[in-house]
Amino acid sequence: MKTISCAIFAQIYEISGLTGEVVIGDERPPGEREPTGLPGLLIDLDGVIYQSDRIIAGALQTLDWIRQQQIPHLFVTNTTSRSRAALLEKFEQFGFDAEFDELMTPIVAANQYLERQQFGKIAAFVTASAVCEFSGVEVVSPQSGQAVDAVVIGDLGDAWDYQRLNGAFRLLMQDPAPQLIALGMTRYWRGADGLRLDVAPFDSALENAAACKAMVFGKPAAAFFAAALERLQCSADEVFMIGDDIAGDTDAAQRCGIRAIQVKTGKFREADLQGDIVPFALLDSVADLPQWWARNIDDPAGASG
Ligand SMILES: [Mg+2]
Repeated sequence: MKTISCAIFAQIYEISGLTGEVVIGDERPPGEREPTGLPGLLIDLDGVIYQSDRIIAGALQTLDWIRQQQIPHLFVTNTTSRSRAALLEKFEQFGFDAEFDELMTPIVAANQYLERQQFGKIAAFVTASAVCEFSGVEVVSPQSGQAVDAVVIGDLGDAWDYQRLNGAFRLLMQDPAPQLIALGMTRYWRGADGLRLDVAPFDSALENAAACKAMVFGKPAAAFFAAALERLQCSADEVFMIGDDIAGDTDAAQRCGIRAIQVKTGKFREADLQGDIVPFALLDSVADLPQWWARNIDDPAGASG
């Protein structure tokens, strides 16, 4: 079992008053297996490995290559519309046998925090598939009228409507006010039918209406990257982040000192490169990773960028 000190956890989450230890994962992380001396990889899922229900061409071969090379890795996703079990099923449908402890999600981090801090009741605006991940607290129905200690919001997709959003707002206006917890701060993602709102815009509406500030568990929060590094037992300069989100993956990782590999799949648009954010490397897709790695990691002297 992997733990980090609460002092570190409190610092990275900007929380005061934590004592003891926070469990980062209840399974042995991949990075703990055998030190390989290789750099680690944090791998975003949606837009990098798959897009909605379609695997990205060449992704499976790259995943097999990562396994063969024994590269320490974690799949870091802000996906909150599915539990880890559901994500594993999705991997299986694609023909890849992923493991529970290879997945790092905002719900895992949030549940650990809520449990450790002994939150009693929470209202969770997440899908039915994801709500089962909250094992350490009592999840009550937002319509029950019960007082709650926290209001957790995730990606509800089409299930968001005025009534539900207003229900979360009313809970936040209770006295004492519950803590608003956002599972990631992704603004949007690309679904099968086009771009779709994620958690951040709904969080903004609630923060604005209830005049509160959410705690964020997920990208782009530095805490999420710190927790991932902790699980891999790597320092920031020993790890690459590969993602499709110029802000939530590339910029957020690089702000933590992690070199970012931007892929041109998923939500990527050419306009993403016209701002101030300069990825460490740019690939057409994750399929190009093994070739890039051979040039830049295995044979850095012959690196051409
Ligand atoms: Mg993505």
